[in-house]
Amino acid sequence: MKIVTVVGARPQFIKAAAVSRVIRNHYASAIEEVLVHTGQHFDHNMSRVFFDELDIPPPAYNLGIAGGSHGLMTGRMLEAIEQVLEREKPDWLLVYGDTNSTLAGALAAAKMHIPVAHVEAGLRSFNMRMPEEVNRILTDRVSALLFCPTRAAVHNLVAEGITYGIHKVGDVMYDVALHFADRAKRQGTMLESLGLTPGAYALATCHRAENTDDPACLSEILSALSEIAADLPVVLPLHPRTRRLIADHGLSRHLEALIVTEPLAFLDMVVLEKDARLILTDSGGVQKEAFFYGVPCLTMRNETEWVETVDSGWNTLVGADQARIVAAYRAPVTAKVRSAPYGDGRASEAIISVMLEHPVV
Ligand code: UDP
Repeated sequence: MKIVTVVGARPQFIKAAAVSRVIRNHYASAIEEVLVHTGQHFDHNMSRVFFDELDIPPPAYNLGIAGGSHGLMTGRMLEAIEQVLEREKPDWLLVYGDTNSTLAGALAAAKMHIPVAHVEAGLRSFNMRMPEEVNRILTDRVSALLFCPTRAAVHNLVAEGITYGIHKVGDVMYDVALHFADRAKRQGTMLESLGLTPGAYALATCHRAENTDDPACLSEILSALSEIAADLPVVLPLHPRTRRLIADHGLSRHLEALIVTEPLAFLDMVVLEKDARLILTDSGGVQKEAFFYGVPCLTMRNETEWVETVDSGWNTLVGADQARIVAAYRAPVTAKVRSAPYGDGRASEAIISVMLEHPVV
């Protein structure tokens, strides 16, 4: 069986690492995987570092498509992926998550009658202003296999009238968290180099367009982080887009009270997450990692796709509102018992088993 996997953005490299490892370690004779990197994330520390650290084979194709408007980027990817699919003639097209690379891959394949398998199917924020929500809904609609991480994701698909191809397999990010936990524990000197004490700092990330594109939202978030930093050191590994928009919006002075770093390599990030007293984020992946590692999380959005983290009391939605963020920071954590809504750490195996069982048409 031949699979073309399309990835392009940081969280997709991490998710693909889990599934690609299963293919290489257990199904090398049965499955040929051709990895296509669209180029959406291209900086060394947003891309290359993940391939090196997570043992992902170098992509067979790098399309070098980054930047521009959503339409321009997605359109260029669509054209380039179609050419790859023409040449490779795979049995399956495999995509992850909700980026423009996900949608372009799915759409190119669907038009060529190549079945699409979507990992992280069924997640919804119910906010159509998010580009990710548009990408998810359209990708799910053209997918033949929909790999859902949670029960809520299955319900969302059924509510949209999708009744075929749905498999609840668990979350591949949980596979990753378990697989790399020990390696992260042995990982270097991240805390010392930043002058941090375990349990005595907050870790923050911010990159969602709804927060970064609006100067008022970005200013509220940075002001909240600065206010917290008067009390507790706040580390902010800065996404390149956010860094650029902070400069464009004239908000650079808000960074003075924070410990700002470049985007971190994955294992360094995991070390910082595990030892943080609190995580503040608008990232989907970081919300869940906070939950996996039992760290309280404030999500700087008004909704989340990962509702289980909120239901369990580990995650609180605080929007992009300085007063709400700071009030939640000061409030005691009301976490309930930690359930295991994200599977057993074997989602990647389940995905490959289902793909092998599924007849290729
Ligand atoms: N991450 C990382 N370095 C960083 C920030 C995040 O390795 O400086 C990892 C993080 O641990 C998680 C993933 O990137 O596994 C989340 O990606 P991102 O926040 O870009 O996307 P989202 O999950 O919101 O789609």
